Amino acid sequence: MIELKKEVYKTSYLSPRNNFELTDVYAEKRYDPLTGHRVRVYEINWYTKPVDFYSLGEKSKKRCPFCTGMLELYGAKFVPSFCKEGYLKKNEVILIPNILPYAENAAVSILTREHVVPMGKMEKKTVFDSICLIFDYAKRVSKFQKKKYRFAHLHWNYMPTSGGSIIHPHMQVYVTDEPLNYHRRVLEKSKEFKEKSGKEFFITYLNYEKKKNERIIQLLDRCALIAPFASRGMLGEFMIILKKTFSYQDVTEKDIDEISFLIYNLMLFFESKLIPGFNLAFYASPIGNNFMRAHIRIYPRVYRDTDIFATDVETPTLLYGESFSLVSPEKNAKDVRNFLKNLVKT
Ligand SMILES: [Zn+2]
Repeated sequence: MIELKKEVYKTSYLSPRNNFELTDVYAEKRYDPLTGHRVRVYEINWYTKPVDFYSLGEKSKKRCPFCTGMLELYGAKFVPSFCKEGYLKKNEVILIPNILPYAENAAVSILTREHVVPMGKMEKKTVFDSICLIFDYAKRVSKFQKKKYRFAHLHWNYMPTSGGSIIHPHMQVYVTDEPLNYHRRVLEKSKEFKEKSGKEFFITYLNYEKKKNERIIQLLDRCALIAPFASRGMLGEFMIILKKTFSYQDVTEKDIDEISFLIYNLMLFFESKLIPGFNLAFYASPIGNNFMRAHIRIYPRVYRDTDIFATDVETPTLLYGESFSLVSPEKNAKDVRNFLKNLVKT
């Protein structure tokens, strides 16, 4: 029922790495088992250099709308009938309307008072509080607008390599009635899979991966962390599958606790690899439906060349939708597993 399809292809040239002898170089095309989306994998050792985000962040501090003192002046506020303070709060995390009209209901959560929190320095509790607050907001705004919004598109551009224009840590959410483009495709394919097989795709895929045991990283009570077979990022991709949850309304505190734990662990791993940022997105069934389990995709982001700020997203990825990965999911899963094992020992 789950088919992991891959094809090996070859290119030949006179290689400078092989004394200009005619050399065959092999790579793989892999196909996402749900959507059929193709990625290419060619494993090599890649290197990056550390970037001092504290110094870089210092330059933008004066004009940061999320820093204390500035937020009161430049942050948007909710109407008093929605919440009288103008913002929602959970411990240190503050949630305000997004000033850019990305959706009918778009909000941003400001995670910390610190302007810069580089990879590996974020507390697990902060991630937990922000995710809780975002889903609370989604439920609250539905009640307020007297509308059962079907989706809460929680996402996170963490650090400038992710495309986030403000270095101050923040997550975002759009609360809407319609899925975003890629989400729509995943929903359609999940529905098709369920109609054909009678089974939900993501738990079926997870069970398949458990048997293979090549791409599983961590299995918890309600969540599982894996490196998906057809990872799209230049440095691969990670996926958290919520084993018992379908829509954003079903997400429990225990789910969020486990999600935060897994993200926290990944952040420590990224720090060890000098990966400074990531993109993260939450996907779920529309509320009241159970044809697709909720899941989160995390896409590590680096400067390929820190001297010239070359990013890791190129034309084939962006405009042709054809990604090229320099790390196989199997290597990524093994590296994270080993990293976590050593972390427990120290
Ligand atoms: Zn700031």
